[in-house]
Amino acid sequence: MANTISASLTLNNPFIFIMIQSVKGTKDILPDSVGYWNFIEDLFRSISQKYGYGELRTPIFEKTEVFHRTIGEATDIVNKEMYTFIDKGNESITLRPEMTAALVRAVVQNGMMNQNPLQKLWYFGPFFRYERPQKGRQRQFHQYGAECLGSPNPESDVEIITLAKDLIESAGVRNFKILLNSLGSKASRAQYRDELTRYFSSKTSELSDDSRTRLGSNPLRILDSKDPKDAAAIAHAPVILDFLDEESRNHFDAVKSFLDTAGIEYEITPQLVRGLDYYCHTVFEIQCEHLGAQNAIGGGGRYNDLIEQLGGKPTPAVGFAMGIERLLLILEQNGSLPTSRQSIDVYIITQNEKHRLLSQKLASGLRKAGISTQLDLLRRSMKAQIRDANRLNARFCLIFGDSEVERGCLTLKNMSDSEQKEIPFDNLDLILNEIR
Ligand code: AMP
Repeated sequence: MANTISASLTLNNPFIFIMIQSVKGTKDILPDSVGYWNFIEDLFRSISQKYGYGELRTPIFEKTEVFHRTIGEATDIVNKEMYTFIDKGNESITLRPEMTAALVRAVVQNGMMNQNPLQKLWYFGPFFRYERPQKGRQRQFHQYGAECLGSPNPESDVEIITLAKDLIESAGVRNFKILLNSLGSKASRAQYRDELTRYFSSKTSELSDDSRTRLGSNPLRILDSKDPKDAAAIAHAPVILDFLDEESRNHFDAVKSFLDTAGIEYEITPQLVRGLDYYCHTVFEIQCEHLGAQNAIGGGGRYNDLIEQLGGKPTPAVGFAMGIERLLLILEQNGSLPTSRQSIDVYIITQNEKHRLLSQKLASGLRKAGISTQLDLLRRSMKAQIRDANRLNARFCLIFGDSEVERGCLTLKNMSDSEQKEIPFDNLDLILNEIR
């Protein structure tokens, strides 16, 4: 009974509707700031092209297995952060939490490595992780990333790091540092893992609950912990660089010397392991001091086993991803965002109802000729229309005033110097000549 009453109240009384808020950890990108996003996307597209990377777009959701099989069961992403649901066909689906696994799935499925043994790809889009929202951390966020598949050589690690640096600098970020480490080959890592397990097992009383859990499943992830309780044990932990086999050491030395030659500065950071299981050899992270707690703007590394794990032939690969929200936060703080004030070419002002058809016709002609044109859809006074034209930053107003229309003309007003002239309103070419 109570339900029936409230339902009928809602139906009959529009004031009962409550505003529905967006989902926690998601943000709307409003027209005022969408220009910043376009700026970054255009810039990154053109830089990616310069490096010879082609764009790849994949679906926003994948079969859950794509991420389960690759990212690692003991990672936060798989354990706590994935948006996973069973769809109506009883299939487990996940909103993509990162791109590398999805991109590799697409490369393997479409036989791209058979067409070209080197695939250089970039992407830009939304990703989803159920994390605790805070500054620079959202549940839907955006990443740009680039992946180079097919080359085992250190030149490709260096190309990816150089590209990442180039993008960040071109966007206007200063004061960032590149942290670099090697996780070595599978064999080096296995040896290191044993040593690390021995070490942390002797320190369990000094570890956080999370790290104690990780000790059994993935001790390397303890090095990633931001919990202050773990800091002392991590500071004295054995470092992977002491466990690299010859092949791993040679690869890392080559990466460093290429970077040195290119004049790219980096800090060797032996605790850097990155959150995902599929990395090997080179890993890197780019940090920016302006970001506070979430100070990583991007990162990546080599993943030589991932393509095989997803059913492809064994193929070495390296890549990185960068967070666009964090990038924009830095640019906003630096004051280096481009102005996003847009302008239009023409605003058509109509004094009299009966001339609206004329203004519609003129607007169509101008738009077809490539001129951005607006007219008043609210039937406002001429004064209000002029105010609207100023708000929209119109370059010209075309005014259908009663007396001009009687003479077959309209008034063209240049908004930058207020100069006015009359032109026949049916002579589109003449109007175009004046405003181009
Ligand atoms: P990852 O895929 O975890 O290596 O992240 C690469 C980059 O994406 C990070 O350095 C951040 O800039 C960004 N990022 C990752 N997670 C989030 C998030 N929850 N909210 C905003 N940006 C994120």
